[in-house]
Amino acid sequence: MWHPERCDLCGECLEACQYVNYDSEKAIAEIKALMEGKKTDILKDCVTCMACNEYCADVKGNAANPFDRIAELHEKTGIQHVPPAIVNFLNGSVMRSELIKGDPDKPVMSICVQEAMLPARALESQMFDGLTIAKGGKYFCFFAQLHVGKESITRENMPTFVNAVASLGAKEVIFLHDECHVAATKIAPDYGIEVPFKSIHIIEYMLNYLKEHRNNITKINKKIACHRNCSSRYISAEIEPMLDELFELVGVERVARKYDRDKGLCCTFAFGPLMPKKAEEVREMNIADAKEHGADAMVFVCPWCWRTLAGECEEHGLSPIFITDLCRMALGEKKLS
Ligand code: SF4
Ligand code: SF4
Repeated sequence: MWHPERCDLCGECLEACQYVNYDSEKAIAEIKALMEGKKTDILKDCVTCMACNEYCADVKGNAANPFDRIAELHEKTGIQHVPPAIVNFLNGSVMRSELIKGDPDKPVMSICVQEAMLPARALESQMFDGLTIAKGGKYFCFFAQLHVGKESITRENMPTFVNAVASLGAKEVIFLHDECHVAATKIAPDYGIEVPFKSIHIIEYMLNYLKEHRNNITKINKKIACHRNCSSRYISAEIEPMLDELFELVGVERVARKYDRDKGLCCTFAFGPLMPKKAEEVREMNIADAKEHGADAMVFVCPWCWRTLAGECEEHGLSPIFITDLCRMALGEKKLS
């Protein structure tokens, strides 16, 4: 949620945006125009990467959430013209739901609507044995609508998402998809919705599992590039240290490349249909940067990002590895491709 009272109109978030080339004067003018609700350039230039939220929270320390204002105005002004087919495609709530009961003493994991997006056998692991699995449209978090100029859909459906997950009756729920964790820990509370369960990010769950089974780990000994997904911009202070610890535990070196951490690039799934040329350039920059810094593989935390970039990574000799598969490799459950 946009917090205008926290914004001092410094413009730094938009000056730091990697998808525009605004100097300080232009960036300040743009943030003022956003504040006043005007139709302004950033609304059409924004690729919805959410990095300005991270900048304002972690660098500036204000957490005004400028992207949330952009998302609101995308919808109000209709400037981000996303074809209805894409908006409908992203509506995961229509997908069939299923609850697979596991060991009652083990945790519950929501895999949302991600099953079809995952690499084959990505969840076939001792890490997930006996978990109760909730999957399908009933557990969809509607975060994706922020990418396509439909913030009202996210807001209106947030109680539905929280109630559906709460109906599982678990005190703690592991979320496979970063977006669901962000919805439960950031977006719902911001909308004033009480969340009656503790959300556990998949990275936290796997990290704890690996620490408890460290004697079963064989170090992978590879250099990897880490691909940042957009929703992680809301929780970088929480998740980045855990990711680093996990990488160290499984024995991979996260190469210090240009487009990682705060400078990570969007996978382009959301804005690709609107700006195909820009999307192609961004994907090429991301993959070339990983290769130039000596990475053997690109590791993904988000299934959508993996699905979007896996083919192009392979074409360029970079193994695309989903995060659960990286842990499976360290546990001897999967060979390094
Ligand atoms: S949103 Fe944050 S970084 Fe951007 S202009 Fe306002 S205070 Fe500055
Ligand atoms: S969401 Fe990303 S592309 Fe849009 S203004 Fe913020 S940093 Fe730039």
